Amino acid sequence: MKTLKKYSSPIFMFALFETIAVGLWLWSGNLFYLFNFTYIGGFIALGVTLYIRRFRYARLVVQLGVGLYMLVYLGLIHGENMQIEGFWYYLFSGVFEAATIHYLIAKIAGPLIFGRGWCGYACWTAMVLDLLPFKQPQTPRRPRLGRLRYLVFGISLVFVAALFLAQVRQMEAIMFRSFVVGNLLYYIAGVGLAFHFRDNRAFCKYLCPITVFLKPMSYYSLSRVKVDAEKCIGCGKCQKVCPMDVDMLDNARSRKNGTECILCMQCVDHCPKGALKT
Ligand code: SF4
Ligand code: SF4
Ligand code: SF4
Repeated sequence: MKTLKKYSSPIFMFALFETIAVGLWLWSGNLFYLFNFTYIGGFIALGVTLYIRRFRYARLVVQLGVGLYMLVYLGLIHGENMQIEGFWYYLFSGVFEAATIHYLIAKIAGPLIFGRGWCGYACWTAMVLDLLPFKQPQTPRRPRLGRLRYLVFGISLVFVAALFLAQVRQMEAIMFRSFVVGNLLYYIAGVGLAFHFRDNRAFCKYLCPITVFLKPMSYYSLSRVKVDAEKCIGCGKCQKVCPMDVDMLDNARSRKNGTECILCMQCVDHCPKGALKT
């Protein structure tokens, strides 16, 4: 009974993803959904289990397992544009599959439950950025630069809308090329910004267009880091290790950079008093 309680989170995660897997499989008749969501749910459950067992690289295991699957298998081998352009493309095509389902689950509805867990455990851009040397930001955040994300968001929308308006042929081929080029640009920009600001997550903070969905949805997230004010001694260790400059010592939803939390658990792990929990 004790073991069951200890591992209730990974069991819940796997059950949730399996429900989605079976539901989409039965709804669409497409066996791929059963495989896809079982795989992702399995990796997330494995990562949470490893975290409970105090394995240092638990988050990296999930990031690589899910991120590489999406980038290499779904994107490069299967030829699906899982970037934001792919979302617009399938949306404008009136097709509810691939990127539209991915965005709905991982980036629009999912954050209501898991916050920005996508950013901490699955994103294939951050999978590379998190390997860079600046795990804790070494320069202060520049809030105004965050406006650039809306520009990138707008460019992606206009790009796909223009292709539709011009009735361009071979859209699938263009989408595939834009996936490859887009990812390369993201990696170049991400690595460049990380070294410029000495902050691995500078791309996430300033440029990533997905945050236009993720931030407002994660505001209402069920999963949040909260502080027990009675246990906290105000040592500030939690804030020092946070890669996203979140004020986790404030329990209000409107706390500073609250919608930036990627649930990496660094603050929880470094608190000497066990004052933080999700
Ligand atoms: S902010 Fe964007 S690039 Fe960063 S982890 Fe989230 S989705 Fe990936
Ligand atoms: S360190 Fe804590 S507050 Fe900061 S992103 Fe990670 S989980 Fe969120
Ligand atoms: S690390 Fe723990 S004790 Fe220190 S300020 Fe943060 S919550 Fe409080």
